Amino acid sequence: MAALQDALQQVNHRIERAYAESGRSPSEISLIAVSKAQTVDSLRALAAAGQRAFGESYLQEALPKMAALADLALEWLFIGPIQSNKTRPIAEQFAWVHSVDRLKIAERLSAQRPIHLSPLNVCIEVNISGEASKGGVAPADLTALAQAVAQLPRLRLRGLMAIPAASTNRVEQRAAFHQVSELLRQLRTLGLPLDTVSMGMSDDLEAAIAEGATHLRIGAALFGARR
Ligand SMILES: *Cc1c(COP(=O)(O)O)cnc(C)c1O
Repeated sequence: MAALQDALQQVNHRIERAYAESGRSPSEISLIAVSKAQTVDSLRALAAAGQRAFGESYLQEALPKMAALADLALEWLFIGPIQSNKTRPIAEQFAWVHSVDRLKIAERLSAQRPIHLSPLNVCIEVNISGEASKGGVAPADLTALAQAVAQLPRLRLRGLMAIPAASTNRVEQRAAFHQVSELLRQLRTLGLPLDTVSMGMSDDLEAAIAEGATHLRIGAALFGARR
C-alpha cells in the first residue's frame, strides 16, 4: 500500500518536472494506471491513493477485476488488441477504448454501445514505427479510418494512441511521438474535433509530454515490473 502510494507520487513528480520543462500545464494530462497482470488488492490500494483511471489489455482478466471493484467510482479504459467476438462487453462496460484500429471493430462497438450510456470515447491506434508485431493502423490509412469512425453514432472519436518502437534514446523517442502529434494535427485540419493523444509509458513519459501527450499509460513505474 505505502509502496504504491510512493510510486504514484514519484510518477506524479516526473510528470510535473516534464511539464515544467515543456512549458505546458500539468492540468492537461490524464494518468492511466495500466493494471494488466495486477491483483484486485493492488488496484484497490492505488485507488485509495487517489488513482481513478485504469487501463486493461485483456478482457478475460479485466472483467472479474471490474466486478470486484464495482463499489469504487473508477474509470476503465480498454487499451489492448480487440477480437471482433469480444466487442460487446467492451462497449457495455468501458468508458474509453484506446486501441481501435479497424473499421469493423469500431462499427461493432458503436452498434453495441448501450443507449443509456454516453457515446464510447475512442482513440485510433497508429502503428507509428511500422512494427509487424504491433497493432495499429498504418499512418497512410489513418485519415480514411478516422473519417469513417467519426461518423459512427455511438462512438466519440477523441484522438490517437501509439506505442512506438522501444528506444532508450530521448531524441528517437521524441521523434516518434512528434509524428503522432503531427498526425493528430493533420486530422484536426480536416475538421475532426480531436483532443486526445494517448502516448507515453513508464520509460518514455518525459518525451511524450514534451511532444504533446494528453494521456499517459503507466504500468511498471506504478506497480513494479510485471511477472
Ligand atoms: C503494458 C502497456 C502499457 C504500460 O507499459 P509500462 O512500460 O509498464 O508502463 C501501456 N500501454 C499499453 C497499450 C500496454 O499494453
